[in-house]
Amino acid sequence: MTDVKKWGDEDFWGLGFEFDPQWLLTAEQKKIQAAIIELSRTTMRENAVESDKKLLFPRKNFQALAKLGLLGLLVPKELGGMGQNHTCAAMVVETIARYGCPSTAMCYTMHLGAIAAATLRHHDNKTIQDILRRVDKDVLVGTLSYSDPETGSHFWYPVSSGAEKVEGGYRVRKKASWTTSGGFADWYVFQTTSPDFGGNYADLTVWLALGNEVKAEPSKWDGLGLRGNQSGTLEIDNVFLTPDRMVGPKGDGASSNDEAVDPFFLLCSSSCWNGISLGMIDIAKRHTTMKKHVDVGMRVADYPTIQDYVGEAICDTNAARALVFQMAKAMDQLTNDCDWSIHRDVMALPRAQVLHWMWQVKFTAAKNVAHVTDKMLHACGGTGYKPGLGIERYLRDGKAGWVMGPTNEVLRQFVGKSALLGFASLDYWNQAVNERVLANEIKKLDAAGKRALAEKLMKEAQGKAAE
Ligand SMILES: Cc1cc2nc3c(=O)[nH]c(=O)nc-3n(C[C@H](O)[C@H](O)[C@H](O)COP(=O)(O)OP(=O)(O)OC[C@H]3O[C@@H](n4cnc5c(N)ncnc54)[C@H](O)[C@@H]3O)c2cc1C
Repeated sequence: MTDVKKWGDEDFWGLGFEFDPQWLLTAEQKKIQAAIIELSRTTMRENAVESDKKLLFPRKNFQALAKLGLLGLLVPKELGGMGQNHTCAAMVVETIARYGCPSTAMCYTMHLGAIAAATLRHHDNKTIQDILRRVDKDVLVGTLSYSDPETGSHFWYPVSSGAEKVEGGYRVRKKASWTTSGGFADWYVFQTTSPDFGGNYADLTVWLALGNEVKAEPSKWDGLGLRGNQSGTLEIDNVFLTPDRMVGPKGDGASSNDEAVDPFFLLCSSSCWNGISLGMIDIAKRHTTMKKHVDVGMRVADYPTIQDYVGEAICDTNAARALVFQMAKAMDQLTNDCDWSIHRDVMALPRAQVLHWMWQVKFTAAKNVAHVTDKMLHACGGTGYKPGLGIERYLRDGKAGWVMGPTNEVLRQFVGKSALLGFASLDYWNQAVNERVLANEIKKLDAAGKRALAEKLMKEAQGKAAE
């Protein structure tokens, strides 16, 4: 028999567990889910309204999550964490976004991304181990600072960054155009071009900075939705970092992206978008079953049009969730249930094998949330357009899905291009020459144009040779 979903002493007012894939969760994971629903009822849902109105970082929600041990959800048990897996991470983010606060869910997504990047390389690093041990006790919120002002959503291309070896450590610089929890996080994982960088942007190194080592300007943050997530600019201004602040070996950036940062960001942010979709459907259920039209004696929910809206939203959202959880289970299988000890071997990169599936996961969830938020607003009518119902806030929050990097434009192209032309054609770091485009453009030049181009190229080549 399906459990009854409770909201305090009462039955939950939105969709019940009969529309949730509860069979995917262990008994322990169901307990975590119940605790988050209760925390949402008592604390997080109300704080979400305050965060949205005042652009307030949801620290109160993080303090409450830390009391449940959830900042250490993915931290290995031997370091005092819960040692949970990908399925649980997806469920936790979705649950926070759905019943509690989407801004908190996004900050928590970035926290889990930072935890994953740090835990991947914690084995011989006492500084990382110390942070991982204290995340809940000291409420140490982590985040990922990747997006570069010069390269926009191509967050894997940090041109405004660098690092030099100096006596006793490294001098490191980085400019970020967006950083969730920027100025509020206690620790930051970020990437720069490697020390001894020779022009190859695939050569990236991962670093750890503490809150007092970054410059943020949270007062400048503003945005349509997810207003509590405080994703402002950030600068690490030639800060001296000791060798223990290098996360993993020099040049580990691409591996760290493919194995930790991207899989966890894509998994958890997709869960955030699904949580927002479900949160909207819950509100629409409550509103449309209560609102009556006296003239025809009908509730809004009695109109077949409204039933169709809700039916389609559930079908599409559960398809998006099914893909999230399928890939969470796949990664659980590939990693022996998120056992970080397999990464003592730095060449072990099992999640990277399924990264192209994770692109599909994010594309699907972010596309769906844009549609569902529109349709649930339509179902709730003008009442939904006003803040009271919460629909308009969820709608604004959901709009971040499509534009957050990797954006949906980029993702669908990654999938289509790699399927048609092979993975090498993606050329993340702009290194492979497209001979077809080159030949076609040159074909358009007349003899004088070709000569002028050849002379220009010869000069450039001679300049390079002389360097
Ligand atoms: C709420 C929120 C929180 C965020 N938090 C973080 C964070 O914690 N850390 C972090 O590092 N970043 C974060 N970001 C930044 C995010 O990941 C992107 O980097 C950012 O949204 C890019 O904005 P932009 O204006 O530079 O877009 P641009 O990159 O300029 O994109 C503009 C348009 O061009 C399209 N486009 C770009 N490249 C291509 C291409 N190759 N092919 C086709 N179309 C393309 C895009 O899809 C988009 O439609 C956050 C963003 C948001 C909205």
